[in-house]
Amino acid sequence: MTSSYWHLEQRRLGRDGAIPDTYFDAVILGGGIAGTAAAYHVRQARPTWRVALVESRRLASGATGRNAGFLLAGTADHYAVSVERYGRAIAREVFAVTVGSHRRVREFLAANPGMECGYRPCGSLTLAVSAEEAEVLRASAEMIREDGFDVRFSETDPLGRGFHGGIVNPHDGGIHPVKLVRALAETSKAEIFDDTEVFSLEADGRGIVLDTPRGKLRAERALVALNAYAPLLDGYFADKVSPVRGQVLVTAPVSKRVLEPVVYANDGFEYFRQLPDGRFLLGGGRRDFAATEIGYDDVAAPDVHGFLDAFKDRYFPELKDVPVEHRWSGIMGFTPDGLPMLGRYRDLPNVWFSLACHGHGMGFSLEVAAMAARMVTQGVVPELFDAARCAS
Ligand SMILES: Cc1cc2nc3c(=O)[nH]c(=O)nc-3n(C[C@H](O)[C@H](O)[C@H](O)COP(=O)(O)OP(=O)(O)OC[C@H]3O[C@@H](n4cnc5c(N)ncnc54)[C@H](O)[C@@H]3O)c2cc1C
Repeated sequence: MTSSYWHLEQRRLGRDGAIPDTYFDAVILGGGIAGTAAAYHVRQARPTWRVALVESRRLASGATGRNAGFLLAGTADHYAVSVERYGRAIAREVFAVTVGSHRRVREFLAANPGMECGYRPCGSLTLAVSAEEAEVLRASAEMIREDGFDVRFSETDPLGRGFHGGIVNPHDGGIHPVKLVRALAETSKAEIFDDTEVFSLEADGRGIVLDTPRGKLRAERALVALNAYAPLLDGYFADKVSPVRGQVLVTAPVSKRVLEPVVYANDGFEYFRQLPDGRFLLGGGRRDFAATEIGYDDVAAPDVHGFLDAFKDRYFPELKDVPVEHRWSGIMGFTPDGLPMLGRYRDLPNVWFSLACHGHGMGFSLEVAAMAARMVTQGVVPELFDAARCAS
C-alpha cells in the first residue's frame, strides 16, 4: 500500500459512532474529488438538504489524493486526436467543460479565501517528444484557437530541454488535490462518514439503504462516485469502467526554481511540475507498461519508477542527485471511449452515478460535479457524458 506526498495533509473529517437512524435527503458514495465536489454542489443547490458523504477510507484516499494536481484544459488526448475521435463539436464541448471547471475552482477559492489549496495559476505546456507529435500539437493548437480558446503553439521547446516545441496554455494551473477536497468537504457541510465501506445499495420502499459496517444508512436518493471501484460494488459497471494504474514520484525540495508551468509530454504519458515548496513531481510511464499498469494493486511498480527516474535524469540532469522522497501509485477509472460516464442506475429509482474522469478528474472536477448534482437534485442527465452510450 502506498501513500502520496499529498497525503501528508490528509485529515480525518468524519464522525465516529453509529450512523443516525434517519433518512438523509441524499447520500454520496466515494470521497474523492467527484464525490466531495458533488456534495458541495448538491448542498449549494439545496442548502436545507441533509447530505451524507460515505468513504471507505479517508477523503482523497483514491486517485484524487494520488494525482499530479494539474488543472488542464481538455482530455488526455491531444485536441486533434479528440476531434478525430468524437467530432469537432463534442471535442469543443468537452474542452469547454474543463475550462468551465477551472473557472469554478477559481471562483470557489475566491469565495472561500480561508481555504488555502496550494493553487497556482501557472499555465501549462504540452510538449512533443518527436517531430511527429509536434505536428499533431501544431494542428491541435490551431483548432483550439479556431474553437475560441486562447492557446499558442511554440515551434521550439520553451524549457530548452530537448522537447520538440508544443502548446502553451496560459490559463491552466496546479493545485494541492487533498487540500482542495478537504476545502470542498468542509464548505459543503455534508455529514461525513469515513472509514465506512459501502457493501451494498438497495431500494427499501421509500428510498435507498446502504449496508455499511457501522449500520444501515438510509437516504431518499444516492450518487455513486466510486470511480474505478464502482465495478467492485456492482458488476453492472464491470464492462464500462476499468481500473488503470498510474505512478508518481516526488523529490526532496530543490532550492532553485527549474520550472514554472505544469508540463504534459509524450502524448500526456509523462507529466511534471515543480511544487510550491520546490519539490519536483513526475508521473507517467504508462505507455511502455500498459499491459501491467492495470487492476487494483496499489504498488509503486519498480519498472515504471525506473523509467521515471531515467526520464527525470534525461530532461533534468541537475536533479540527478536530489533524493526521491515519495513514490506512489493511484487507480484511475477508464471508459472504453475515453469520456466520463454519468447516468441513472438501471433498476433503482433515484440512484445516479458519476464516474471515470480518466486521467483528468481534477481538470473535469467542479463542472462534472455540478452536472452530477443536477442529476441528483433535478434528475437531469448531461447529454455529453450520458452513460446510455455505454449501455450493454
Ligand atoms: C497517478 C495519477 C496522476 C493523475 N494526475 C492527474 C492530474 O494531474 N490532473 C487531473 O485532472 N487528473 C489526474 N489524475 C486523475 C484523477 O486523479 C482522477 O480522475 C480523479 O481523482 C478521480 O476522482 P474520483 O473521485 O472519481 O475517484 P477517486 O479519487 O478514486 O475516489 C473514489 C473513492 O471511493 C472510495 N470507495 C471505493 N469503494 C468504496 C465503497 N465500497 N464504499 C465507500 N467508498 C468507497 C475510494 O476509497 C475513493 O476514495 C491522475 C490520476 C492518477 C492515478
